[in-house]
Amino acid sequence: MALPRPPRRARPTTSTMPTAGVARVARPHTRPRRPPTVPGSFNTLPELLKANKTWAANMVKLDPNFFANLANQQSPQLLWIGCSDSRVPANQIINLAPGEVFVHRNIANVVNHGDLNALSVLQYAVDVLKVKHVIVTGHYGCGGVAASMTNQQFGLIDNWLRTIKDVYQANEAKLDALKDPKAKLDLMVELNVANSVRNVCATTIVQNAWKRGQELSVHGWCYRLEDGVIRDLDICISQPEQISRIYNVMSGKTVANA
Ligand SMILES: [Zn+2]
Repeated sequence: MALPRPPRRARPTTSTMPTAGVARVARPHTRPRRPPTVPGSFNTLPELLKANKTWAANMVKLDPNFFANLANQQSPQLLWIGCSDSRVPANQIINLAPGEVFVHRNIANVVNHGDLNALSVLQYAVDVLKVKHVIVTGHYGCGGVAASMTNQQFGLIDNWLRTIKDVYQANEAKLDALKDPKAKLDLMVELNVANSVRNVCATTIVQNAWKRGQELSVHGWCYRLEDGVIRDLDICISQPEQISRIYNVMSGKTVANA
């Protein structure tokens, strides 16, 4: 039996179609057109393409062989696992050029063993690119972590946030002892980073690399949106014997205000 077809949506007439980019099409009534007062902000997609041409030309001015060299190979020394949050772009905040950092981002920088996407990135980074460092970078004020600390339903993403809820449950006593919601979120963000570091270290990808003597360290960092500064959570795992050390960050200490 055929499923009933959904009613056809009327096509907008040519006169009502926005002539600007997709950004305006996606949310035509929810946000007013923003003047480009912030460097890099834009109103239309063609502006982005123009900005790209300018950027590429400037890069060639600095180094005529920049793109030719980059096209031939990439040899980043680090894999960045971070949050998808638009305010935490990997290359910019650690001031690295294209080609210098291999990146995986998702909501709340979660690494779990069922995520083929994250594991595939990790395998390519470790086995093929031979990165020397894997850095899990969370950020204070992370909306994904904050959402996981509520009992609200948000839809499909609830399944993703479940991993973070498990981190909360494992540290419930410490977290519940904190009465200040901001301090609680700060610690939860750090614990979530530590959990992702532990999950990276627990993979056969990383452990096999250590077994064959490959130089590889896994780190936990946390970025603060308010000042643009990364805090080192003092997690640096470079051999299997160290894995238990990541629990140091779970002792209730935080470096959020360091
Ligand atoms: Zn986030």
